[in-house]
Amino acid sequence: MGGKKPEGMVLINDQGLRLDGRRPDQLRNLKIEAGVLKQADGSCYLEWGGNKVMAAVYGPRECHPRHDQDPTKARVRVRYNMAAFSVSDRKRPGPDRRSQEISKISSEALDHIVLASLYPRNAIDVFIEILEAEAGTRCAGLTAACVALADAGIPMKGMVASVAAGKIDGVVCLDLSREEDNFGETDFPVAYVAGTNEIVLLQQDGHFSPEEIDRALELTAKAAQEIYALQKAALLRKYESMAQSGADEERAEDAESASAQPEAEPDAAPDEEPHADVAAEPEAETTHEEVR
Ligand code: ADP
Repeated sequence: MGGKKPEGMVLINDQGLRLDGRRPDQLRNLKIEAGVLKQADGSCYLEWGGNKVMAAVYGPRECHPRHDQDPTKARVRVRYNMAAFSVSDRKRPGPDRRSQEISKISSEALDHIVLASLYPRNAIDVFIEILEAEAGTRCAGLTAACVALADAGIPMKGMVASVAAGKIDGVVCLDLSREEDNFGETDFPVAYVAGTNEIVLLQQDGHFSPEEIDRALELTAKAAQEIYALQKAALLRKYESMAQSGADEERAEDAESASAQPEAEPDAAPDEEPHADVAAEPEAETTHEEVR
């Protein structure tokens, strides 16, 4: 935001389309996968336009250091980190002011939805790793983190879906790309609690009129519903594949125990004998009669 737009650069063309061909109200492609890491309690991998994000959740587990413990609730701690290779110029590794700020606002957003009072003295640690960045990473990170929390089975009052709006060439648009973020006029990331539409994060960099804010909220609220549907579908796919592999395992176990009992088959005959006996009984009587 705020970079000087190169001379003659047009972010919205005469047909009202953006540099990547999207309409103002269109999201970039979004792909979400839940449960991708074995070692984490919950995880999510997300690709959103050119962003690639991994989120992992550990906990609830005893909070360390102990002086960080809250006797009334769990601490929801988020670490947002951009990999050194996530942007075209190598990013200096480690926390900087920007990542600290994003970690803080993400913690606050998630703290609002996690039922933290169920886990006093515990910590729920959320790691957001930006593997590739192309604008909108705080929204992508928060959206992934929430899927990872659900994947970890952490009780929440709702899912958080996050997306930015912005202003480019004077038009309010959804989900800014890198050029739009660099050379646009306004960036406006928002995070909603799905279902209630409660806002748990809202930032603004640049200027908006009150009408433009209304339009930005309208676009982001509608898009949050689309994002929520994708989050839910990713979690469902994860549970369906778990159920499928559970069923496959059961079938394999059945097949194994069946093949482990080839000698059991002759035993099956005596098993049938009682039935044979029951059926044979009148016959035995007849025989008895005949003898008499
Ligand atoms: P967000 O990623 O949430 O939009 P910003 O608006 O701060 O956050 O950043 C916009 C984009 O600028 C990032 O997605 C990333 O592509 C790029 N960027 C951010 N920090 C750096 C950095 N240290 N080096 C290079 N590019 C960066």
